[in-house]
Amino acid sequence: KLMSSSQSQRPKGPSRLSPRDIHNGIKHPGVLFKTTCRYSLYTRTKLGYIFHKRQMRKARERYPAGHSRTQPTIINGIKIIPVPILSDNYSYVVIDTASNMAVVVDPADPQPVQACLEEEGVALQAVLCTHKHWDHSGGNRALKRRYRSCRVYGNAMDNIPGLTHPLSDKDTIDFGTRLRFRAFYTPGHTAGHIIYLLDGRAIGGPSSLFSGDLVFLSGCGRMFEGNASTMLSSLDTVGSLNDDTLLWPGHEYAKDNLVFAAEVEPCNVVQKQKLLWVLQQRGQRLCTCPSTLAEEKQYNPFLRSHSQDLHRALGLQQKQDEDWTSYRARVLEELRRRKDIYKDR
Ligand SMILES: [Zn+2]
Repeated sequence: KLMSSSQSQRPKGPSRLSPRDIHNGIKHPGVLFKTTCRYSLYTRTKLGYIFHKRQMRKARERYPAGHSRTQPTIINGIKIIPVPILSDNYSYVVIDTASNMAVVVDPADPQPVQACLEEEGVALQAVLCTHKHWDHSGGNRALKRRYRSCRVYGNAMDNIPGLTHPLSDKDTIDFGTRLRFRAFYTPGHTAGHIIYLLDGRAIGGPSSLFSGDLVFLSGCGRMFEGNASTMLSSLDTVGSLNDDTLLWPGHEYAKDNLVFAAEVEPCNVVQKQKLLWVLQQRGQRLCTCPSTLAEEKQYNPFLRSHSQDLHRALGLQQKQDEDWTSYRARVLEELRRRKDIYKDR
């Protein structure tokens, strides 16, 4: 845990945190150094993969049937199946039921993903990988070995295991005529993070966004390899998509994220209702996705950096010499800081 040394002196609510608490906790050079070291070992060396394999083994023992109960969503013959993997990740198997073609997003644990593909009796065409972290990319190679013609998509900048088809911003990927994905380059969490939009126009329904670790239900990923303004422009990419877009995030973080949002913006009614629903779902270990971007824009603080209600709640004001985008980046930075402290307490 990052914060253990200063935890005892710290007051409980994030609203009562002083700049000094934040400085001591997050920006302390020693802590930063340790975190950076650990992060490099995880992402750049074989140790990361060994750690991932251990996590996989532990999660399979602890949750033999998966960490959550999920059910498929079918939109005009396109079937989306969330596959619970590790302790809180989701992979997504997307099937065109007319052609039996399937692709999978972020298959970090190949075993349950393969079981799902076999049960559905479909042929895997491709892996769409959002970013290099092992809890998203750890199964790429195994699936490529198992399904010989399987392609692996991702950003070349992110050192994706097994990558065969490097992508650029706004590339489209077609599987037959009905499965059309568009890749958006969304750096910040990692330098090469990509999100995938399944185009609803090809099937006459809403689009589906597979957001990896960029956006979660009521949350956003940590900025490991980018600053707040990079992250802000990636979040704005999500904000510009249609309101009816379904959000399929990389982790089951809904409960924690909404409790945090409730601390930040205590007067947000939509968020309160969503939290009640999420508590009900999680009480039965049910999956909380998909939400819609219309909903997210109303309660996800990280998609609300333009909102005056949020500014008031955070006690922030635009400075005279500060342009709107820099101000919104500062709002995002403040949110991220509070969230890091919230998570570590
Ligand atoms: Zn990640």
